[in-house]
Amino acid sequence: MKFENSLAFAKTSDRQDPLKSYQSKFHIPKVNGKRAIYFTGNSLGLQPKSTKKFIQEELNDWSSLGVEGHFHSKRPWLHYHQFSKKSLAKLVGAKPIEVVAMNQLTVNLHLMMASFYRPTKTRFKILTEAGAFPSDQYAFESQTKFHGLNPDDAIIELIPREGEFILRTEDILQKIEENKNEIALIILGAVQYYSGQFFDVKKITKAGHDAGAMVGFDLAHAIGNVPLQLHKDEIDFAVWCGYKYLNSGPGGMAGVFVHEKHAHNFDLPRFAGWWGHNVKERFEMKKGFKPMVGADGWQLSNFPVLSGAAQLASLQIFDEVGINALRKKSLLLTDYLEFLLKSIESFENYFQIITPSNAKARGCQLSLLMKKNGKKVFDRITKGGVIADWREPDVIRVAPVPLYNSFEDVFRFSEIFRNAIQ
Ligand SMILES: *Cc1c(COP(=O)(O)O)cnc(C)c1O
Repeated sequence: MKFENSLAFAKTSDRQDPLKSYQSKFHIPKVNGKRAIYFTGNSLGLQPKSTKKFIQEELNDWSSLGVEGHFHSKRPWLHYHQFSKKSLAKLVGAKPIEVVAMNQLTVNLHLMMASFYRPTKTRFKILTEAGAFPSDQYAFESQTKFHGLNPDDAIIELIPREGEFILRTEDILQKIEENKNEIALIILGAVQYYSGQFFDVKKITKAGHDAGAMVGFDLAHAIGNVPLQLHKDEIDFAVWCGYKYLNSGPGGMAGVFVHEKHAHNFDLPRFAGWWGHNVKERFEMKKGFKPMVGADGWQLSNFPVLSGAAQLASLQIFDEVGINALRKKSLLLTDYLEFLLKSIESFENYFQIITPSNAKARGCQLSLLMKKNGKKVFDRITKGGVIADWREPDVIRVAPVPLYNSFEDVFRFSEIFRNAIQ
């Protein structure tokens, strides 16, 4: 598409947008009484208007049925984890048996690592990206210590080349090759939260497996943002949270993917709880854990229904739209944002876009490394009605989300941002 730097062009693009009606399905926050330019769906996705209804239905069933709601509510609570399976599977390119909604992301990361990070005397290293999200870093560090290892020896961090901000796939593959006899687990954020880089999941997984390692991905910034094919690409496991692009609400439902090849491996060590136990015997309250087949066998506790109801409201929208249509719009919106930002006169003096310029290597987020007055600029755009994200020491992250952001949002943002830096 040939972009133009004008409000008229943005408005025409919005009129031609096949997904334009979806904005009205969300509550858009206001700043100073005006509709905000909400570019932080990568931090907390907006609330679908249908969420209230989904939660209210569970509240109603709870009030009228009490404990009987486990069996007799509209969506029986006993089986609640099943209601999101198909939609989640579609989003990550998996079979329903490979996914389950449960817990929170970091909890799930630990549960997955309990099974898939099994260090031996010689093969004990974790390969990850430098500057991973802190919670992931703490998880990796504490996991190595849990196994009696020194994190400084056991964790290899991938660092971009001098003067670069993103990791080159060839460098990642080389690092795997160099450490091929020692790596037990490769784990990266599929879309890196800080730089917005979307890694070559397929190539990295292949190289990891060739080296004899397990390969997992943190999808916090990938699910609902970019198309994924976890089954086909043979990822061993993945984890995600539900409150970013998935719009499941603050602290909302997270989930995991466990590849089908591990579905029947009941010898795989795991931390167990009754909700992962064979459902036919679950209420016999007997000794001896027998895991369910597939990802379900990693569940610990009974399902948080209110949180799950909010997730279902959002997944219904994703089912309707489909990730491919979303991605199509997403590519245009983000490209347009990049085009406008690069049209700002001598923009290089003020900021650098550290997110890959190759659209295939990014989702909908652009990370702007501010060269001067970063925090001041951020405060000015905030006053101007933009809700974006500031990351110390000097990065502004902006994410035009295709479900509820428009070309006009992108255009207006670029105007506010230009005024703020100049
Ligand atoms: C958002 C995010 C988290 C947050 O973890 P929670 O357990 O949901 O609090 C962890 N890792 C990454 C990469 C994230 O982007």
